[in-house]
Amino acid sequence: MISAKAVNKHFGDLHVLKDITIEVPKGQVVVVLGPSGSGKSTLCRAINRLEPIDSGEIAIDGKPLPEEGKALAALRADVGMVFQQFNLFAHKTILENVTLGPTKVRKVSSAQARETAMELLDRVGIANQAQKYPAQLSGGQQQRAAIARALAMRPKVMLFDEPTSALDPEMVQEVLDTMTALADEGMTMLVVTHEMGFARRAAHRVLFMSDGEIVEDSTPEEFFSDPKSERAKDFLGKIL
Ligand code: ATP
Ligand code: MG
Repeated sequence: MISAKAVNKHFGDLHVLKDITIEVPKGQVVVVLGPSGSGKSTLCRAINRLEPIDSGEIAIDGKPLPEEGKALAALRADVGMVFQQFNLFAHKTILENVTLGPTKVRKVSSAQARETAMELLDRVGIANQAQKYPAQLSGGQQQRAAIARALAMRPKVMLFDEPTSALDPEMVQEVLDTMTALADEGMTMLVVTHEMGFARRAAHRVLFMSDGEIVEDSTPEEFFSDPKSERAKDFLGKIL
């Protein structure tokens, strides 16, 4: 579903993605771990071309990433993205945040978009917040609204870049529960996170990145019990 082949990316002299090859099959959850600065966010951003790459190929559902224009907009609509910061539109209600993409990009009727949005807000447990503005919600509720907004586009894949790292500790679990439910429903997901519980529970595979390289690609069981590289051992030693 997500396929990247020999992807390279530089920021000036800094080689941030070094020959990255990954495959996320349909219905799988792949968790990306790695130290700060290893290139995890850059990889996520490259996957929907928020960041241009220098060489290599990225395809979503078998379709190569288009360079620009309508084809790129269509592809982005297939790739839901949730960031560390919630990026909700501050001057729109939660409901409007969720209906905006479907009505503008997917050309869904407002009535249909509202109905779907309310179902999604219910699914992430914040239907009673629909008429509020983002600033009136807790961080965890805002992040669940951001997930509902991404899902409203009916994406084929979801990318999460540290979705819980800006949250107060008591709100982390509610967002992880929402993500776990999504994973259990068979959503294809690439998730950058430091939440090891989520990785163990939901991931089909764990990729460990260090210095722009994928150093390990294994099952969570293998990775946590028997990391192969010194870099992974060192990383796990620091965070577990
Ligand atoms: P973190 O865990 O801190 O989020 P990360 O693994 O997501 O780290 P990236 O954000 O992908 O790391 O950054 C990888 C490297 O690229 C870092 O050295 C970073 O400073 C550099 N970098 C990222 N974005 C840019 C940019 N727009 N211009 C220049 N350098 C950048
Ligand atoms: Mg990052």
